[in-house]
Amino acid sequence: MTAPSRLDRAVGAVLGSAAGDALGAPYEFGPAGQLSARGEEMRGGGGWDPGEATDDTQMAVLIAESLLEHDGLELPDVFARFQRWAAGHPKDIGLQTEDVLTSGEPWDLAAALHFQINARAAGNGSLMRAATPAVYFAAAGREATMDAARRIAALTHGDPAAWEGTAILHELVRVALDGADPLTALPAALDAVHPDHRERYGRVLAPDWHPGLATEFNGAVWPCLGSAVWALRTTTGFAEAVRAAVDLGGDTDTVAAVTGALAGARYGQGAVPAPWTAALHVPLPGFGERVLDADDLRALAQRLAVAGSR
Ligand SMILES: [Mg+2]
Repeated sequence: MTAPSRLDRAVGAVLGSAAGDALGAPYEFGPAGQLSARGEEMRGGGGWDPGEATDDTQMAVLIAESLLEHDGLELPDVFARFQRWAAGHPKDIGLQTEDVLTSGEPWDLAAALHFQINARAAGNGSLMRAATPAVYFAAAGREATMDAARRIAALTHGDPAAWEGTAILHELVRVALDGADPLTALPAALDAVHPDHRERYGRVLAPDWHPGLATEFNGAVWPCLGSAVWALRTTTGFAEAVRAAVDLGGDTDTVAAVTGALAGARYGQGAVPAPWTAALHVPLPGFGERVLDADDLRALAQRLAVAGSR
């Protein structure tokens, strides 16, 4: 088998994240092992149709379309798209994300003000939507990739811990698109993390860490990223990694979306099982009746990869 091309990996990241999101959606907030116990995949449940992607992928698509239409990162536009989407009553939206997007505060203050009042804002909500900007910014190199990640995260998450985790994920996807093993890039990625946050990420990304050691629910940014990296490290293929992520229980759609982005970039789009992508679809509340399918996601990922490398 020949190694996947850079474009195959870019599509793998975007499609893989969406597939993980949809695979995990029916089991959100449930116990561990539900996917294996059910023995059927992409059959829906918990209010989700088979193959239906949730807020993770919906927000990733919104970021992608803003990047492409503006030929770069136009933060007020991304925020406005998020607001329009939130007003369209998505089936699922993170509590904190909803608070920030509906606060009526301007794009550059809303998340910071929320963090000032609530102090805790390190949910995984900025991690879950990272596949598309990670593909777009990859060609710009590590520093630009991590900087963009932080700025997009800061639109909804005022806690710098969320920015740093999102920056690490972007960087790991960037390395994988280059054809390298993202696990070997962890030390360099950690070096580029803000010193205040380096130790804590170092702990959850260490080779001997496993989800059983998590000190928070995996809806928080640290165990979510740690679990995704663990899933990649302890498996040998895309489907196996994403299944392991869903079977952890908890915030199954998001842990699987993050795992899917990493594993998709690592193994390429050909590794994403066809039965998972056949029913895959992404509604976009607030944007009319638009629903993207797997081919739309493939095309979107290709446009991101090409536009980002110009
Ligand atoms: Mg979700």
